[in-house]
Amino acid sequence: MVQPNDGTVPRRELYARPVKDRIRITETSCCGAYEWACQGGQFLILRARCPEGYEETGRGLYRQARSVWDLLISAHENEHRRENMISGAVKSRSRRPRARRDPAA
Ligand SMILES: [Zn+2]
Repeated sequence: MVQPNDGTVPRRELYARPVKDRIRITETSCCGAYEWACQGGQFLILRARCPEGYEETGRGLYRQARSVWDLLISAHENEHRRENMISGAVKSRSRRPRARRDPAA
């Protein structure tokens, strides 16, 4: 889904790693959605692309990249919360006992 970039959504671009430039991944978010990386004295966030490759975003100084990371992680956690609320609602609906029909009525 393509969303308009109004400045709140970090811009992502295809990650193209220079051959000699080492990258260190030091942190992985829940379910591996994002990876926190350091390369050439800069920090960046990687996300696996389907079917292959990576997108990067937030490349820059620690504080700048970390604020993008925090934004992405909190958005990701909200997605899980929404999913849990939806699946919780479905479960509680199916668990609710059915109204019994009174045979005498
Ligand atoms: Zn997750």
